[in-house]
Amino acid sequence: MMTCKQVHKALAKGDYRDLPRLQRWGLLMHVSMCFVCRAYNREIMLFQDAARAFREHEEELGSQTRLSEEARERFRAAIRTAQK
Ligand SMILES: [Zn+2]
Repeated sequence: MMTCKQVHKALAKGDYRDLPRLQRWGLLMHVSMCFVCRAYNREIMLFQDAARAFREHEEELGSQTRLSEEARERFRAAIRTAQK
């Protein structure tokens, strides 16, 4: 079973869906059972899910829904800060 620290490190590296299947399964099991991770790391996973869904549908949404480069940089900075 992964520890809270291992879960956090794995989430900080990037999208948890890109992890190897066994590691992703361990992460999901840990987060489903650990009250600490449910409160903190689950939010990171939800953010990653939302970002992935947005990327997948960005083209369908058209150019009017695209973020400005300034807004994109603010998001990148917020993500970097959250991953520290
Ligand atoms: Zn935990």
